[in-house]
Amino acid sequence: MGEDFGYTNDLKNLIDERILELQKAKQNLDKAQEIANIGHWDLDLKKNKLFWSDETYRIFGLKPKEFEASYENFLQRIHPDDMESVKKAYSDSLADKKPYRFAHRIVLPSGEIRYVEERCEHTLDENGEISHSIGTVHDITDIKRIQIALEDTNKKLKEYIKIVDENVITSQADTKGIVTYASEAFCRISGYTKEELIGKNHNIVRHPDMPKAVFEELWKTIKSGKTWEGEIKNRKKDGSCYWVYSVISPIIGSNGKIEKYTAVRQDITDKKLIEELSITDELTGLFNRRYFNKMIEKKLQSAKEEKKVFCFLIMDVDNFKKYNDFYGHQKGDFVLKGIGKTIKNINENDYTAFRLGGEEFGAIYIIKNENDADKIAQKIRQSIEDLQIEHKENNASPFVSASIGVAIADFSTANNNCDVDLVYKIADEALYRAKANGRNRVEKTKF
Ligand code: GH3
Ligand code: MG
Ligand code: MG
Repeated sequence: MGEDFGYTNDLKNLIDERILELQKAKQNLDKAQEIANIGHWDLDLKKNKLFWSDETYRIFGLKPKEFEASYENFLQRIHPDDMESVKKAYSDSLADKKPYRFAHRIVLPSGEIRYVEERCEHTLDENGEISHSIGTVHDITDIKRIQIALEDTNKKLKEYIKIVDENVITSQADTKGIVTYASEAFCRISGYTKEELIGKNHNIVRHPDMPKAVFEELWKTIKSGKTWEGEIKNRKKDGSCYWVYSVISPIIGSNGKIEKYTAVRQDITDKKLIEELSITDELTGLFNRRYFNKMIEKKLQSAKEEKKVFCFLIMDVDNFKKYNDFYGHQKGDFVLKGIGKTIKNINENDYTAFRLGGEEFGAIYIIKNENDADKIAQKIRQSIEDLQIEHKENNASPFVSASIGVAIADFSTANNNCDVDLVYKIADEALYRAKANGRNRVEKTKF
């Protein structure tokens, strides 16, 4: 008996021990599920009995007392928009006897919506029929929310990039000035396609009117790691021009060296055209009197600073009243146009021509050698006569001719303190002498 009792006692201890172990294992499983946010369920299809683990209840926001686990009751917790696909995923997997993996939304009693990922596998009985389905429910709400936020940010970023691409005239170039990116807006304004721009040197849009010095200064600035900004006249594919205000900055790479350059530009063509109109003489296309007034101050100042020879030339068409009277005012206009074109194209360094008014023109040129002052004036006078425009009423030439007065201020040696008014007066007096001495000639005064 005693032995029997002892044996039973051992067995009881063993059973108690095993029960404790099982309880411990269940506790561990529950804890692990809680940590992982993964619950599990088990459906006995024969008895239509559904088991939910503690974590599954927690995910669904339910308590075992409040919810009788069954497939039908589970379906009631599915987000209405996902209902059909959840049913289909499960029934397809039953029909195929294959596992499934599916994400959908559930609605908690509080109304909160959560995202779960379900995985399920089936157990077959001896007849090959499914007896059990076992599955896991993973609460992926946090991941899903981050994913949705990321997708949203990504979408907004793409929209933003598109807006920038379409509206901002921007490009990138490598350290050699080869275009690596060109925005749609850059393509639109320049008339080139992205394919035509990318891989080409940025000077593809360079306009011949732009002084070389501007680009030298630009490159010097950005190569030294600084930002350059300024107005640039560019050339379109069709040869016409557009103006931009450009901000060009170097991008420094992780190695501390310049990796590339980015340029952001603003279309200022309209502003420049208005600016150009305001300083251009309509008839001849030369700079007008307004611009002359501004320029002569500047040029005189820089000649003084650089100790060079400053020349101001006034030119007046000879017997032009008679020309108008004889050939008509319209033909007279045509002559002025021709003269404008001719004196604009005089090929000299640091030379600018103007129409001062009526049939009076002006030119400013800065030279190193005083002897060139007369040479250039003679070249201008000759170029007018060389147009060979018949002028029967001109006693100075069979053709249209002009008289020229030149004021020469030499700042290379003397400490000359002349101002604009004096320069103008001296040139005007020289012109008067040229007229008095027979017209179609150059008179000059050096002071
Ligand atoms: P001079 O050799 O002494 O300069 O004689 P001139 O006839 O040229 O001088 P004057 O000042 O008496 O006449 C200038 C003329 O220039 C008056 C006007 O008929 C003409 N003129 C001035 N502006 C224009 C213009 O825009 N178009 C035309 N067709 N003629 C102009
Ligand atoms: Mg005159
Ligand atoms: Mg005249």
